[in-house]
Formats: sequence, C-alpha cells, structure tokens
Amino acid sequence: MVTKANIEKEGFFIEITCPGCGGNLELQDNFFAVECSHCSSRHRLVMPNSPPAFLTKAKVTTREARFAIDRYAKKHNLPLSSSDFQLKKVYYPYWKIDAVLFRYRKRVEKRVVMSDDYDTNSEISYDTEKTEISLSPYTTTLLAGVRFEGLPESIGLRSNYLKLNIFADHLVEDDFDSLPVAKSWETMRSSLMSHIGSIGSYDSNHFGANKTEVFCPKASLIYFPFMVFDFYDDDNFHRYVVDAVTGRILSNITELNITGEYPDQMPDIKFGEIKIEQHRCGNCGEDLPADESLVYICKNCQVLTDLEPGVAIDTISAVDIELNPDDIMVPFWSLKLHREDAKRIQPFFGGMFHSDHIVIPAFKVSNFDAMSKLAKRVSSAYPKFKFREISDMDNQFRNVNLPLTEAILLASLFIHKDKYVKGLGNKDTKSETFVPTEISLFYAPFHLESYFYVDSYLNAVTFEKKLV
Ligand SMILES: [Zn+2]
Ligand SMILES: [Zn+2]
Repeated sequence: MVTKANIEKEGFFIEITCPGCGGNLELQDNFFAVECSHCSSRHRLVMPNSPPAFLTKAKVTTREARFAIDRYAKKHNLPLSSSDFQLKKVYYPYWKIDAVLFRYRKRVEKRVVMSDDYDTNSEISYDTEKTEISLSPYTTTLLAGVRFEGLPESIGLRSNYLKLNIFADHLVEDDFDSLPVAKSWETMRSSLMSHIGSIGSYDSNHFGANKTEVFCPKASLIYFPFMVFDFYDDDNFHRYVVDAVTGRILSNITELNITGEYPDQMPDIKFGEIKIEQHRCGNCGEDLPADESLVYICKNCQVLTDLEPGVAIDTISAVDIELNPDDIMVPFWSLKLHREDAKRIQPFFGGMFHSDHIVIPAFKVSNFDAMSKLAKRVSSAYPKFKFREISDMDNQFRNVNLPLTEAILLASLFIHKDKYVKGLGNKDTKSETFVPTEISLFYAPFHLESYFYVDSYLNAVTFEKKLV
C-alpha cells in the first residue's frame, strides 16, 4: 500500500486530487493504486503511451531568493543584488529518461609468469583478452526547452526526490511562465542513442570495439521552477539563477553568450494523459487490493482483471503441486516462439536449447543480469512443469508488475546480451526481435533456503532472496 505513513519516501512521488472527495493524495514513484485517506475510495493511475508531463511547484518566495543571492554574493565577494533587478520566473521543461544500459567492454589483462627454467630465470608474460558484458538501469534528465543561459543542463539527482504534480496550466502561478518544449521525444531519443553509442567506443587500452547501447527508454517531461535575476552593477551584468524549490543558487554569470532563439518550427507536443480510475473489479464492483499488480482475480466473483492496455489474458495457471504454507507463488510470462524464431534463437539463449518457450519473470527487478539468469533457469525448467488453471489468488501470490510488452523487450535484450557472451554479437549487430505466437502467465512455487529462493517443484531453479 503506497500511502502508509511509515514508508520512507524514496524516488519521486506525485500528488493528485481524489476524484471521490477532492482531497489531496500522494503516490510514490511506482505510482499505481492508492486508497484515499479521506473517503477510503480506491483509485489507480493509468499511464499513457506517449510521455506524460509533470510539474514540481515553486516553494521559494522572491524575498527568500534575493536573500539567498545576497548571502552568496557576500560569501564570494560579489556585489549585492541591486534593487533595480529584472526577475523572470520560469518553469523550464526537462526530459527524464529511464532505460536499460547495455555495456560491452573489452580489455587486455597482462599476466606475468616466472619461467620454470631455473637457469634462465626469465619472465613470460601473457596477454589475456577479457570481455565484460552488463545490463544496468540508466536514468538521465536533459534540456527539453530552448537554451536559456544559466539554467542547469540537467536536474540530475533532484529528479529522484521531487514531489510532482500532473502538469496542468492552472498550476503555473500568474507570475511564472512555463516555457515551451523545443525538442520532441523522437529527436531526443535519437540524439540520446547516438550520444550513448559513442561512450567508451575508443579506448586505447582495449582491443576491438566497445559497445554501449540504450534499450527500453521511457520518457516523461518534468517542468522545474527557476528564478532568474538580472541586474547591472557599475555597467557589469549579473545573472543569478535560483532553484525555486530549494532556494539554492545554481549559477552566477556575467555575460550572455546564447540568445534564446526559437527554432523555425517548434514541435507540436501533446502530453500523454494520465487517467485516474476507480480501482475496482469491472464485473462486481468489489475493491481490488491496493498493491501494484497488473493482474487480479476478484476475491468476490473470481473474474480476472487485466490492466495492461492491449493485452488480454483469459486464464492464469500455476505449477501443479500441493502448496506449502511457506511457499511464495512467483509470476512468470511464458512466450512461445514461432518455429523459425525458436530455431534461430535456441543456440544463443542458454535456457531454451530444447524448448520453444522463453520464460521471463513477471515482476520488476533492477538487477538485469540476475533477471536474465533467472529467465534462463526458468526457461530451461519450463518443459518439466505441469500446470493447472487457477481461479483465486491468496497472499502467497506475488504481484505481477512487469508488463508483458516490457517482458518481450527484455527477452530480446537478454538474447542480444547472450549473443555477445557467445562472441557472436559483433557479427550480427541487429537486435533480436520476435513475435511470440502464444503468451501465458503462470505462477511457480518457491521457498526460502537461507539466501536463496528455490523452486518447490523441481528443487532446481534458484534466485537470490533480495530479487523479490
Ligand atoms: Zn477521497
Ligand atoms: Zn468481482
């Protein structure tokens, strides 16, 4: 439940108005379902396909900002702000991008071995070629508006603890301007891809080509408030840029080099619309659990609710075994491949040598390498499982919070990685895509054995305790 007061807030969180009673509600950054603390109605946020826009409200007054400038000026022996200043208050847009970074690094390791020939007492050195391949989460923020001298290139870590509101014109105070978005997500995406691609490609210490790629990028816009003070002192120009959330001085410049020229054509940006829906069973109206899950079976009428847009699951199965009270039921997406796809992919993807199913965990894991290992282990165990259909879920069942569309992207990414592991990546750089011919969601029982979860059916598949 995301509203529990005792949960320390980490990541950014958003504020919405309860559609039931108009009270203020806060959701953490996994923003999903929330129970209104005023009227107890349950709601969920439905995220749009195109990037949504958020705004973080200004908290600092002009007086406080001027005070901060004068304190800064005193400390740095600069002239104090004159009373004759020009003040611009702006909400400036940044793109926030969350993605998966694929890194392929080659390096040469030198090993020196003493010769076993006593007489010569010589050293022999070997060069060993090593490769490191990793997948890691990647977050960045980039300027989305027209260049504005003095504003930071990125809002960096600030984007991790911000309180955000869904962007709406009425939230922009009268004395503030919200600046237009000058770079569309499509432009941003391709420049990000080529920028990332150039990282670490040429390093003299390495052999062959390194590779860095971004996968599964997700974007949103964040409007951040700044106060820009311009004034002249003995003919010298001064500009102070103040972070209007914390009151911190971000820059002090004495010269303007860039004029904020608008491009000939500003892109027509439509923000993705975040919808707030009642979090109820569509069949009988019973409140659904407030945990973040994409799939629920209603406790009251046993009808399945499937929340991922464009995905329709009609049955859910579980590995057929008598459950232990200590077992947890872990969800997985199973993707059946077309025969041709399976034939092509089997040699790379470790887990499916003899199978035409790729199995991907249906829950979010930030450690992608661990996730890829688990995917391979379960894929390889999959043909040995027997299944039964299920019609209810108790609290042994873990939440499904990795959408099927993301699971398919991750499957392609894991295959991509395995090609590099097998030394075939550079020969065929096209990333591996496939369209599953059948999709199912199943649960498999696992129990804890010290630091690992072990599957209770085969006693063969393991994953680290901290993964769930
Ligand atoms: Zn309410
Ligand atoms: Zn129901």
